[in-house]
Parts: sequence; structure tokens; C-alpha cells
Amino acid sequence: MPGSPEPDRAAALAAERCLAAEQVEVLTRDLARVVQASESSNADDEHDPEGSTIAFERAQLSAMLDAARRRVQDVDGALARLAAGDDGRCERCGSSIGDERLLARPWTRLCIACARDQRQV
Ligand SMILES: [Zn+2]
Repeated sequence: MPGSPEPDRAAALAAERCLAAEQVEVLTRDLARVVQASESSNADDEHDPEGSTIAFERAQLSAMLDAARRRVQDVDGALARLAAGDDGRCERCGSSIGDERLLARPWTRLCIACARDQRQV
């Protein structure tokens, strides 16, 4: 029947969510450590080579943490859509996203053609 549960996709999403949530946790801890290190070292000296390394590390960790948080949101959104009976259609053009793509990127909302299109815009 249409809209029946897709165990493979649900399992892939659950696994991805687990990974992403773990990443958020690890990165949050790492970032807190770097922030602490920058506060306890003499990071107010801009010319301190260690200070700039810490600043770089901090920026990189922040970016990674943002990406991991976005992934959790993407996966949660996909799980909610799946629970609502989403049958793997492209949000933009309404055509089928395709099993292969859905298993590789189970949180995706776009078919491959639309995803390519959007990257070009
Ligand atoms: Zn599409």
C-alpha cells in the first residue's frame, strides 16, 4: 500500500541521527575545552601563536558543531515526514527521489536533479 513504512529508510535515519547526536555531544565538549583553554591561556595576546591556533580550532569546531546540529535537524525533519506518510517524493518537483539516494542520504528532501539545480543557484 502507498505510504507504508519503509524500514530501511527509517533504520538509516535512526542510525544517522544517533551518529549526528553523538557528534554534537563530542563537539560541544571539545569546544567547551577549547574555550576554557583560550580563557586560561594568555589568549588576549593576539600575537601569541598558541592563541591564534586556539582561535582557529575554536572556529573550526564551531562550524563542525553547526553542521552536526543541522544534520540532527535534517534527520528529525525526515523522520517526521516519514511518520506523516512521506513516500520519498522531491519537495520541489514532486518526482520520486529514488531508493538509492534515499538510502545514501535518507534526510534529503530533494531529488538529485533539484539538489544539483539548487547548488548551482
Ligand atoms: Zn526534484
